Amino acid sequence: MKIHFLGTAAFEGIPSLFCQCATCRQARERGGSNVRSRTSVLIDEVLKIDFPPDTFYHSLRYGLDMDRVQDLLITHSHSDHLYAEDLAIRAEGYAESGNSTLHVYAHDVPLRMTTLALQGLTHNYELHRVRPFEAIQTQTSTIVPLLASHDPLETCLLYSIEKDGKTILYGHDSGWFPDETWTWLKNKKLDLVVLECTVGRSNHRTNHMNVDAVLETKEWLMKHQVLNPEGTMVVTHFSHNAGLLHEDLIEIFEPYGIQVAYDGMTLHI
Ligand SMILES: [Zn+2]
Ligand SMILES: [Zn+2]
Ligand SMILES: [Zn+2]
Repeated sequence: MKIHFLGTAAFEGIPSLFCQCATCRQARERGGSNVRSRTSVLIDEVLKIDFPPDTFYHSLRYGLDMDRVQDLLITHSHSDHLYAEDLAIRAEGYAESGNSTLHVYAHDVPLRMTTLALQGLTHNYELHRVRPFEAIQTQTSTIVPLLASHDPLETCLLYSIEKDGKTILYGHDSGWFPDETWTWLKNKKLDLVVLECTVGRSNHRTNHMNVDAVLETKEWLMKHQVLNPEGTMVVTHFSHNAGLLHEDLIEIFEPYGIQVAYDGMTLHI
């Protein structure tokens, strides 16, 4: 399975449009892995997680044929994860998108936003309302939505994705997971875990994870033998507010065997 990290930043991107903080200034100067667009991953070209406002930029930068995507999983409605207006670009009159259907999987708020964005248009989307802990067979994989701890105003989701005999936990946006999610994870076997580390070294871990929460999550997964011994853990979704450049993140996470994602990174599991 090929996992392509299209973007690896939180809401503002890095460097943030208007920001003059030290991290953004250094990111502008150094470029490379310090420049991060809003978070999304693409799996085997056919399964995409989240639809940020940088999707157009991603298609240009990586030469993606977005019409190949069959399943689109949405974690939650925040604008760095769902720019629903751009989904309309696939509708009749805006695109000749062949005969393929794009299946969108989401819960309450993002599903409503998607429905509104497509209202009155002729399109070949199929929208699916997912519910936490209820497995669904999609066109490309078996997914199980899990509860995140992120925004009390909506049901934010994480996803377990099983494809070609491998299982991924796509674990953000979320602070320390809710009890139901930990309970579900017990006795599972994961090959790849993707977590966020939005807030870096701050003490905050309720709606985003900090460094300590990421390390404790890895400890828990190892202790309960949930993450396979040869399994991979990746951190992504970074905010400039954490004040950490790519090399700082590597210095923090490398000793624990955790990979720091960067825009364009590709993993094969
Ligand atoms: Zn986010
Ligand atoms: Zn900044
Ligand atoms: Zn969010």
